[in-house]
Amino acid sequence: MSGNWENAYFPGNTRTKARRMTGSAGKIEEVFGARMRDFTTIGIGGNADRMMFPRSAQEVQEILKAEREEGREIRFLGAGSNLLVHDGGVRGTVLCLKKNMGKMLFSSGGSVIAEGGTMLPRFAVLCALSGFSGVEELAGIPGTVGGALTMNAGAFGRTIGEIAEWVEIVDMEGSLHRFETRNVRFGYREAEFPVRGLVSRVGFRLASGVPDQVFERMKRINEKRRAAQPWGERTFGSTFRNPADRESAGYLLELAGMKGAREGDAAFSEKHANFLVNLGRATASDALRLIETGRKRVRSKAGVMLALEVKLWGAAGD
Ligand SMILES: Cc1cc2nc3c(=O)[nH]c(=O)nc-3n(C[C@H](O)[C@H](O)[C@H](O)COP(=O)(O)OP(=O)(O)OC[C@H]3O[C@@H](n4cnc5c(N)ncnc54)[C@H](O)[C@@H]3O)c2cc1C
Repeated sequence: MSGNWENAYFPGNTRTKARRMTGSAGKIEEVFGARMRDFTTIGIGGNADRMMFPRSAQEVQEILKAEREEGREIRFLGAGSNLLVHDGGVRGTVLCLKKNMGKMLFSSGGSVIAEGGTMLPRFAVLCALSGFSGVEELAGIPGTVGGALTMNAGAFGRTIGEIAEWVEIVDMEGSLHRFETRNVRFGYREAEFPVRGLVSRVGFRLASGVPDQVFERMKRINEKRRAAQPWGERTFGSTFRNPADRESAGYLLELAGMKGAREGDAAFSEKHANFLVNLGRATASDALRLIETGRKRVRSKAGVMLALEVKLWGAAGD
């Protein structure tokens, strides 16, 4: 990729050196050999060849066009809260939105626009402060708006797809599109967009609410979450999808004796068997061994083949 280079120290928690590529609006920050364990909530994963931190959809477009010309593999990263990255890391370029693409715009009448890297908990709090209701159920999901829309994340009977009105996507060739969400096929923890690419902005239509009441509701919902799930631990949330027309994956794992089961420093939480936690120095190999054991035990005990909800990156994944 062309551009002027300068060395700079990356102010995050990685010790690798960062450089900056010159885009149309100035330098785009990038890190070579970024440690993926620093960018995932489970704290597991080898290095990414290169990670870039665009500040706008336009910079995303520039990067995607250039990467395509170079024939490099490209991946999109939000908060890394639904990811298990292989110990050998990932090749090519990772575009990380959480750092520099978290701007929001609130308008009267319930219309809110959020960039793809906006964190959901922050989004929910600012919606409440602005007198908008409808995001409370999602406030405890530690992902970005872009990652959540891609996964159609949801909780307590609400999914993000229900409150999104439109989505802006930069396709793999670097072209920008905007779609009404009625043209997106939302399913259980998945969304099929008319084009494949990066979610750069999402428009929401929200109901009005009294801030104090919205906060109170959010608090009650988060307390329920805290009571049922590990809190403040390193995890990627649900390991397996809940199978259709059966008991939940957590129940089936518990039935199969997997609650608290451990491989190295990876364990199925004592609090919620479907939450895999990193007890310290877990590796992706530990986590994958544990996942396999859980899957086999549930199959033999309940005759159900569990499917993964967590996304795998690297040798064992996409
Ligand atoms: C403690 C905890 C609790 C959780 N609770 C819930 C819950 O209640 N409900 C729920 O649904 N999930 C839950 N999750 C899982 C996770 O938070 C969600 O799936 C979340 O939406 C993932 O967002 P992210 O930004 O972290 O995505 P990432 O993990 O970074 O990425 C997930 C996938 O989305 C893609 N992606 C990310 N950003 C973009 C983008 N801008 N454009 C295109 N593709 C993108 C990635 O390539 C990857 O395939 C929980 C996780 C944790 C750790």
